[in-house]
Amino acid sequence: MATYTPMIQQYLRIKAEYQDAFLFFRLGDFYEMFFDDALKASQELEITLTSREGGGEDKIPMCGVPYHSAANYIDTLVERGYKVAICEQTEDPKQAKGVVRREVVQLITPGTKMDGKTLDEKENNFIASVTDFGDGSFGFAYTDLSTGENKATILNSSFSDLYNELAILGAKEAVVSSGFPASWQKDLKERGLAVSLEDSEEELISFTELLADLNEKKHRISMSRLLHYLFRTQKRNLDHLQPVTIYETKQFLKIDFYSKRNLELTETIRAKGKKGSLLWLMDETKTAMGGRLLKQWIDRPLIDKNQIERRQELVETMIQHFFERQDLREQLKNVYDLERLAGRVAFGNVNARDLIQLKSSLQQVPAIKQTVASMGQEQARKISDILDPCGEITDLLEQALQDNPPISIKEGNLIRDGYNEELDRYRDASRNGKTWIASLERQERERTGIKSLKIGYNRIFGYYIEVSRANLHLLEEGRYERKQTLTNAERFVTPELKEKETLILQAEEKIADLEYDLFIQVRETVKEYIPRLQKLAKAVSELDVLQCFAAVSEERHYVKPVFSEERKLIIKDGRHPVVEKVLRTQEYVPNDCYMNPERELLLITGPNMSGKSTFMRQVALTAILAQMGCFVPAAEAVLPIFDKVFTRIGAADDLISGQSTFMVEMLEARNAIANATANSLILFDEIGRGTSTYDGMALAQAIIEYIHDNIRAKTLFSTHYHELTPLSDQLTSLENVHVSAVEQNGKVVFLHKIKEGSADKSYGIHVAQLAELPDELIKRANEILSSLEKGADTPIIPIKKEIDNKQADAANLNESALEAQLSFFGVQEKPQKTELTSKEKKLIE
Ligand code: ADP
Repeated sequence: MATYTPMIQQYLRIKAEYQDAFLFFRLGDFYEMFFDDALKASQELEITLTSREGGGEDKIPMCGVPYHSAANYIDTLVERGYKVAICEQTEDPKQAKGVVRREVVQLITPGTKMDGKTLDEKENNFIASVTDFGDGSFGFAYTDLSTGENKATILNSSFSDLYNELAILGAKEAVVSSGFPASWQKDLKERGLAVSLEDSEEELISFTELLADLNEKKHRISMSRLLHYLFRTQKRNLDHLQPVTIYETKQFLKIDFYSKRNLELTETIRAKGKKGSLLWLMDETKTAMGGRLLKQWIDRPLIDKNQIERRQELVETMIQHFFERQDLREQLKNVYDLERLAGRVAFGNVNARDLIQLKSSLQQVPAIKQTVASMGQEQARKISDILDPCGEITDLLEQALQDNPPISIKEGNLIRDGYNEELDRYRDASRNGKTWIASLERQERERTGIKSLKIGYNRIFGYYIEVSRANLHLLEEGRYERKQTLTNAERFVTPELKEKETLILQAEEKIADLEYDLFIQVRETVKEYIPRLQKLAKAVSELDVLQCFAAVSEERHYVKPVFSEERKLIIKDGRHPVVEKVLRTQEYVPNDCYMNPERELLLITGPNMSGKSTFMRQVALTAILAQMGCFVPAAEAVLPIFDKVFTRIGAADDLISGQSTFMVEMLEARNAIANATANSLILFDEIGRGTSTYDGMALAQAIIEYIHDNIRAKTLFSTHYHELTPLSDQLTSLENVHVSAVEQNGKVVFLHKIKEGSADKSYGIHVAQLAELPDELIKRANEILSSLEKGADTPIIPIKKEIDNKQADAANLNESALEAQLSFFGVQEKPQKTELTSKEKKLIE
């Protein structure tokens, strides 16, 4: 290290503290990266890699990005899960003795991003901390630094519960202690989370207000870990952090991560985007805050009947008050993101334009209050009462700020006339000076008789009098001092012009400085209102989601569901909300679903593509929408309040954990069976398909029996094993329903209509027939089917059992052909011929 130049030594010292981050090292107008950071960043950011002498033996790899466009590069890195430490010069280079002092002023991480293009305005950006208390429980706390929302809970100390919670939140980063199991840290990283270490969990006494409501020490510890991390990395004011709210996962309808994904609640399985998800369908919100709250409500439907009914009543009121709702929507359109604005105020990075947005948002509030109150419903009135227009702030911003301020807060033009006397005086001086100059121009023209004489200004020479070459002889000797010569003209100054200029320029500098100070004062005043603004933001976002529910419910003809205390489920003419919307050519076929304590399990049979899984999903989505407080896509709906929803639908392969589809299927089945109660909803789509027929059928039957006898959860079980349908004779609360296909004009047509009873035994062959497979083949299939039904041994395949010599030759041939190919591709090694194990030999014998 000693041979490195002092600057590189300084770099290495700082870098040592930020090993897991890119260190953006400020050098003049650039952020430079060195050594490995440079190698990696040049690839990630596609920027040129150079090198420089640094005193060591070899040149040091280096790459850099300009200071003014650094934000984009930082965004890119953070979006890819990296951390970026911003290291600034913290003393004036002119004053520095030796190397300029540099310090990391902020560590930007995936979970602490405050703004930038990659921060989706309709999505929260959560960072969570986990604390293992060693007693079977985890302390779990999370924050969205951009909005200041803080919550904490206690989880069971299992990886799946933890991951579930992180996945539901879509958390980008997990803060753990260094004692947290390395394998779990690795698992989290593989699942796309940034993992950061923070060992300090000492309670933050200076944050008594934040932690005030946390009676339990556990909550205080897990929140403190998170706060320590945030302060350590952000190194600035975080006054916008809201008091922590405690929640319990059991206060909400529990939908595990896999089920959420299977049901495509907030993103689709294949495209990984919002489009096609329930969130996409529902999003009629008008504000960014509303958009975020909608997602939270979808992620966590309620289980408390009163809370659900409160939302329902509000939605109903909004549906009934069509015109008021239209007004409300218009008003909401003009409300900016108050929550994130408040966060940026605390962070100290708002400009005058942001505050103008705040002003125009606040100006909407009295009208919104009025609109909501005029709906004349009790709950609506309560929300209206909460809406706080923060009049003092609106007044202040109206009086203080100009309407169209520039982005920069250092160049003036921010503050209105009449707001501050001192500023007005400087402005007068500057304006008078300018008027004086205008009149000087007139006087000089008269004095000299030169009509084209003009007074101009440039940054280098200041104010000057310009006279064209042809008129120079008209100037009075000795009065004008020559400053600059142009091709066709000369520029002059006079002592009185210089004197005024000094006054004007001094005034302008004073103006810019004073405006900056005044702006900062305004910003500090706004800061004091952050809690009120956050409360307002909450109420506004709730209104937004409620009007969104009303809009969707009305437009798509949803009905208000009624909740049954008798564990009944009646859905008449139910539809799948998203499929219904995307079906263009075809009309959606509505279906009924009836369940009650005598009819807890439905076994659904029917060919592929007939609509079984759509039907199952539609029942789950109806329940979820209902518990979100929204209306549901049906003609009539009576529903129990479910506590948990489990699904095993489609091929949600868990590629990360490297498990087989069948293993995942069994894990999901286990999860449902272990955790479901009589109040849960289980959807099992073709369980057992992933293994051999008998195996699969046996498992399917055993699972059905187990749920029927031990759990009694409402269960929809689709299967292509029609052999399972007689189960309804033995299992009293299991019923068969089916979907069938018919032939129309020689084509297979699925009616998508769910009917009572089981499907035709040979529906598979029937569909094959409709698809016009050769008659002979169909005939043979029917033969095989009937002998199977008579209990024949499987497989009924009349082929020779032993491998004859010809086949063995063919195998050898293939092998030599393979060798030839390998050598053609330059692969020298012969494929290894593995010895047969004794077990295998026995099997062959
Ligand atoms: P299965 O689970 O029986 O294989 P799906 O539920 O996946 O069948 O349905 C196949 C397709 O049929 C869906 O993609 C959808 O387009 C259409 N479909 C399903 N149910 C209906 C319905 N009730 N009305 C109209 N089309 C439907």
